[in-house]
Amino acid sequence: MFRGKLIRSGNNAKTVKGDDVYETAIMYLAPATLAGRNVCAMAETAGCIRGCLNTAGRGRFNNVQLARLNKTKRYLADRAAFMAELVADLERFVVYCQKKGVKPAVRLNGTSDIQWEVAHPVTRIVRKSHPHFTYIAEPKRFANIFEAFPEVQFYDYTKIYKRVYRQLPANYVLVLSYSEANEAYAEKVVQAAHDTGANVAVVYRDKALRDSRAAAVADTIGIRGGTWLNRRVIDGDQTDLRFLDPKGVIVGLYAKGAAKQDESGFVLG
Ligand code: SF4
Repeated sequence: MFRGKLIRSGNNAKTVKGDDVYETAIMYLAPATLAGRNVCAMAETAGCIRGCLNTAGRGRFNNVQLARLNKTKRYLADRAAFMAELVADLERFVVYCQKKGVKPAVRLNGTSDIQWEVAHPVTRIVRKSHPHFTYIAEPKRFANIFEAFPEVQFYDYTKIYKRVYRQLPANYVLVLSYSEANEAYAEKVVQAAHDTGANVAVVYRDKALRDSRAAAVADTIGIRGGTWLNRRVIDGDQTDLRFLDPKGVIVGLYAKGAAKQDESGFVLG
C-alpha cells in the first residue's frame, strides 16, 4: 500500500485485482460543491450527486470525509501549491512502484471531475546528464501532470463529454460516464462516444443485469428519438484498469452503495 498526502493505493477492491502488474493510486476529493466550489461541472446535469461513490467504502467514515474536504479546500485555495504536493506524491509513488516491481497507474478523479489536462501546469525536477557531473537536477515546467510523469499511466471516468474531443496526452485515458437523468446530457455523451470512439461506462441496476448485457452481442444506449449507440458490453468490475480495455465498448458496471437506490436515470434498469 502506498500512502501519500493526496493519493493512496490499495483501498479500492477493483484496483487490487490488477495489482500484480499495475498498482493504482487514487485521489479522492470531496465531490461536487461539498468543499464550497464545484469540482464536478456536469454532476448536477448528469444527476449523479446522490448516487456518487463518495460515501461508499472508506468514504462512510467521518475522518475520511474530513480528509477529502481538507484536500479539496487546499486545491481550491492554492492550486499551484496543491499541484506541487501532487508532484511530490507522484515522485514517491513512482519510486515505490519501481522498488515493488509494478507499473504505476493513477486516477486523479476518484470522486471529482477536474479537467487536469487544462490550466493545471506543474514543475518537476528533472535530471539531465552533464559533461562534468553524473547529472544535474533542474526544475522544468510542464503543461500538465501527464507530461511531467510519462512513466505513469493515468486514467479517469468523466461526465464532462467535451474532454474526450481533446487531444489528450498519450498516458491519459478517459472513459465517458453515462446517465439518463437528463436526456440532453445522455444525447451528448452518446454523440461524443460516437464521434471519438471513447468507451462509455454504464452503471446497471445489479450484477445479473450487467452480466446479461455482457453476454448479449451488444447493448444499445441512447434516448428515444435521439442518437443511439450499439456496442459490446464488457465486465468493467473485473478490474479498474480502464486503459487496458478494448476500444469502442460499453464498460458495464453494477450499482454499489448509494447508487443501488438511484432512480435519477444514472443507474439503468
Ligand atoms: S459521480 Fe463523479 S461527477 Fe458525479 S458527483 Fe460523483 S465524482 Fe462528481
